[in-house]
Amino acid sequence: MPCIDAILREEGIFGKNGVFGEVPIAQIALFFSNAICQLARVRARRWPMHEIEADVVVVGAGLAGLAASLAAREAGALVVVLECAPEEERGGNTRFSNGAMRAVYDGVADIEQLVGEIGPEERARTDFGAYSREQYFDDMARVTQYRADLALTDLLVDRSRETMQWLHKQGVKFMPLYAWQFRSSDGFIRFAGGSAVETYDGGEGLSGALFAAVERAGIRVHYRTRATALIEQSGCVVGVRTRCGRDSVDIFGRSVVLATGGFEANAECARAILVPASRSPRCAAAVSIPVRGSAWRSRRAPCRTAIGQDAIPRAGISTHPT
Ligand SMILES: Cc1cc2nc3c(=O)[nH]c(=O)nc-3n(C[C@H](O)[C@H](O)[C@H](O)COP(=O)(O)OP(=O)(O)OC[C@H]3O[C@@H](n4cnc5c(N)ncnc54)[C@H](O)[C@@H]3O)c2cc1C
Repeated sequence: MPCIDAILREEGIFGKNGVFGEVPIAQIALFFSNAICQLARVRARRWPMHEIEADVVVVGAGLAGLAASLAAREAGALVVVLECAPEEERGGNTRFSNGAMRAVYDGVADIEQLVGEIGPEERARTDFGAYSREQYFDDMARVTQYRADLALTDLLVDRSRETMQWLHKQGVKFMPLYAWQFRSSDGFIRFAGGSAVETYDGGEGLSGALFAAVERAGIRVHYRTRATALIEQSGCVVGVRTRCGRDSVDIFGRSVVLATGGFEANAECARAILVPASRSPRCAAAVSIPVRGSAWRSRRAPCRTAIGQDAIPRAGISTHPT
């Protein structure tokens, strides 16, 4: 609970031993955090969606939000997911992606763990190569022009192989990504490293598999529910203010995960934000992709993030994780 952490960190106020008079500060912190949760519940009961009480509130039902909700559920948390799109248009950018994924791998055996056994003929005409931790790290540095957060990059790279296996365990189906590799005139394929696999049926398959996993896990997704602000108490985020139809609903949780995606599928935002980059052929191609559901996308507040911050113009930075 962030409140407890915050209070415990303020040792100076409560004394070095974490004791205020005879009462340990952990108890004080617990008392306050329980009181805040009770208050939150009483407030929530006033609203029509009063039944929503969760340990973890996830905003956004794309790959990031669905994966976060499944991971939290695995850890035993009661999770709710809020998604502004209607159910029939769910899936965010994830649904429109190619489903290509980049991860560390050490030869064909690692790929087979994700795609199943590769037959002798396929093996004979392919060099599946490998992609090391160092290569991934270098690629991240190059693509982000050394602006990527070091700790997060470490996490991304170090956990990439096990994350792919975890996604596979959730029901995501993979196949070798032959289309992006080097092909010689005699038909021999040499993998370039990096994005070696893609999901079956691209983003549609990826999104569909994750929604199925979320349903199996008993996680409730609230559609047409847009997060409009974070609710803070005593400097801690304790919930999300949402708009659902005409109702404004406050949903409280012990943790809030914002997974509201980017602007890749919105041509107007891509042009406005990736300004100089949009003149490069790569970005021009990206912004001209005709995306299903673009009418829905263009109804969103242009070029702003989920809860109001303006997106920051970044010259020459790719928004594409692969
Ligand atoms: C055409 C295309 C092809 C791509 N191909 C690839 C690829 O092959 N490989 C790859 O790695 N990446 C690819 N990408 C990029 C990839 O799709 C995204 O990086 C990824 O899907 C982001 O996932 P996400 O969960 O963060 O966001 P999203 O999938 O966009 O999900 C965000 C969700 O949050 C919801 N939301 C937003 N605001 C709110 C709010 N206020 N309240 C409630 N809900 C909200 C949205 O409706 C959406 O459902 C591609 C992108 C595009 C457009």
